[in-house]
Amino acid sequence: MGLFDKHLAYRDAYQAIRQAGADPFNVRLDKVVSPTEGVIDGRPTILLGTNNYLGLTFDAESIAASVKAVQERGTGTTGSRIANGSFEAHVELEQALAKFYRRKHAMVFTTGYQANLGVLSTLVGRGDHLILDADSHASIYDGSRLGHAEVIRFRHNDPEDLYKRLRRMKDLPGERLIVVEGIYSMIGDTAPLKEIAAVKRELGGYLLVDEAHSMGVLGENGRGLAEQEGVEDDVDFVVGTFSKSLGAIGGFCVSNVDDFDVMRVVCRPYMFTASLPPAVVSSTLVALKRLEEMPELRHRLMANARQLYDGLTALGFQTGPTASPIVAITMPDQERAIGMWNALLQNGVYLNLALPPATPDSRPLLRTSVSAAHTPEQIDKVLAVFANLGSAMGLIDNQRQRATA
Ligand code: PMP
Repeated sequence: MGLFDKHLAYRDAYQAIRQAGADPFNVRLDKVVSPTEGVIDGRPTILLGTNNYLGLTFDAESIAASVKAVQERGTGTTGSRIANGSFEAHVELEQALAKFYRRKHAMVFTTGYQANLGVLSTLVGRGDHLILDADSHASIYDGSRLGHAEVIRFRHNDPEDLYKRLRRMKDLPGERLIVVEGIYSMIGDTAPLKEIAAVKRELGGYLLVDEAHSMGVLGENGRGLAEQEGVEDDVDFVVGTFSKSLGAIGGFCVSNVDDFDVMRVVCRPYMFTASLPPAVVSSTLVALKRLEEMPELRHRLMANARQLYDGLTALGFQTGPTASPIVAITMPDQERAIGMWNALLQNGVYLNLALPPATPDSRPLLRTSVSAAHTPEQIDKVLAVFANLGSAMGLIDNQRQRATA
């Protein structure tokens, strides 16, 4: 008996995947040339799976701010903010986020994952109910385990099911916290937030929206799905990340709920881990400014998303329900998903392979995430590679390919 025996089934499955070609869960980028180009296995490759929605990882001003911060404040904070104190830029970033979201309070975490762990486990506890969309991100599920609230799941994007479940617990004591995501990370669909907000208004409770993939992407000002749907007043907590549209790392929560700041002394994933390094805080501050000042990045992103989504759909690939910066292609089976992923990589296109149980409906996916920094020519090139490989592998029919070529 060994400690890892319980994981042997995964080891064997992983081994089988690796035998089919490159290791999809351990791709090494020899070089990153720009937000959309890298070198993998010596081959120039279009990056189409990096969540770099606004392409800000190479923003010159962000880089300059980051370099300056390292020179002036050093490489790390070497401790948590409750023990070692905050640098002024942590506070500045929280103020900037609060202002951007027009909320009174903001708190920064070391990752988005930790923001969900911290916020969910702190807001609700024993005797309370945490009501999650069934397709919630792992960080939401893990946050629900770290706390002691009773966890109830409702069917993905189904406000009626949410309504029924909330109604059933009408007379139970305790608080209720409903958690949904702006854009779901696997197939790029959005939550029906107007309807969900209406359920909350009628039956009570708090609403938290994880805007990890929708910050900077949706809404006129980039505040996410709640802004786009005009329901920001119904959303009590917004959680987000710096690791996607802002091109860095870190997480946050903003809110107008009174006493929010007590989290600084009770929220363990905030208290017991080192705070964000100066370089990251400073680049994020600039990236947030870019996000606010450059709506054209959002427009370009959406045009690119539509080009890819429409192109893949016209070729006959099975895409998700709506054009969004996450375009997922459902594959008929795992073998062909892995085969296609490897063939794409060999043809200079890098995207994400997502296998069950990490996917909705237990079907394998090729998941792409588009960037404002992609050029229409790059997307055309990607579509041409998909067309060739798709027909060679029998995933789409040749006639359709010719008709759309
Ligand atoms: N929430 C959602 C919906 C996510 O998709 C992710 C990351 N993929 C996170 C939270 C965690 O973000 P981070 O990478 O900053 O830890």
